[in-house]
Amino acid sequence: AAEYGSDDGVIATNDDATSCKACAVSLGYWKDPYLPHVYPAAPDRRPPEINRGFYARTHSIFLLIQKFIQVTKGDCQIVNLGAGFDTLFWRLKSAGHTPVRFIELDFSEVTAKKTHYIQRSKALLQAISDDDYDIKLNRNNLHGFRYKLMSTDLRVLSEVEAKLEESEIDYSLPTAFIAECVLVYMCPTKSSQLLNWIAKKFKSAFFINYEMVNLGDRFGEVMLSNLRSRHCDLQGAAACATLQSQEDRFVQEGWAGAEATDMMGLWERLPRADVSRVMRLEMLDENELLTQLFSHYCITTAWTDTRWTEITL
Ligand code: SAM
Repeated sequence: AAEYGSDDGVIATNDDATSCKACAVSLGYWKDPYLPHVYPAAPDRRPPEINRGFYARTHSIFLLIQKFIQVTKGDCQIVNLGAGFDTLFWRLKSAGHTPVRFIELDFSEVTAKKTHYIQRSKALLQAISDDDYDIKLNRNNLHGFRYKLMSTDLRVLSEVEAKLEESEIDYSLPTAFIAECVLVYMCPTKSSQLLNWIAKKFKSAFFINYEMVNLGDRFGEVMLSNLRSRHCDLQGAAACATLQSQEDRFVQEGWAGAEATDMMGLWERLPRADVSRVMRLEMLDENELLTQLFSHYCITTAWTDTRWTEITL
């Protein structure tokens, strides 16, 4: 994608997200026996508020997708946009949740590495080799029976469409899209086009978008300049201004409705017993740090079909 300049900074954000998740998993925030297969290194220790943040993010998305699969009785597809090294497919499968198709899209630099890790891991391969289906793979792409990992640039709609069709996407099946810290790295025109295309193309779509919000204050400025210093040109930050703007970007692109909640609100809705367990894992002296962090991230769910308004935490 030469016309967009170097994507190296954006691609590197996956290493950062994966190493944060690996740290939280190593400390017992949640169980993910698959993560070491895509992140074999010993993770750097992160501060407690970061670990809690990743717990809230990973757990909330898991619970929402689990609900979607339950409500559709598995007769659905999941498309993970900018999936990075996420292990959601394997975590869902080991919890007994198997959608008809689970498609992951990312830049070829990322999918090539993930394909390599999957090929090397018995545990990862076993989960995608069900139904006696022959896995087909090349350097950047992998086709299992349900699981598909495809390289694409999400800013190029014709490429997204071709890759989804190669993955045997069924536009008439209920489909949930996940964008976990991804849209912010695309310029707003391109992310809007993608959201618009999904709303038009899919008969019944649900979207889970996790990203920054409330970036207008000092804390938000610091978050942005941290990311910029790592060569990420945060073109999409404008859409992250407020909870309202996070909802509006969907409605303006043809979605029937959207609801944005900051992570403070979601933290309060997560199952209490597990939250209490997590809070005992590490001391957090300054609760204010957590409050600040949680008020600068949000999850927006959006739907083209009012059946999905019941999918909340
Ligand atoms: N969703 C994963 C997670 O939360 O663990 C990875 C998040 S990482 C912060 C952002 C990911 O989005 C990276 O893997 C990056 O390569 C991908 N990404 C960003 N812009 C993209 C684009 N235009 N096309 C494909 N992938 C993109």
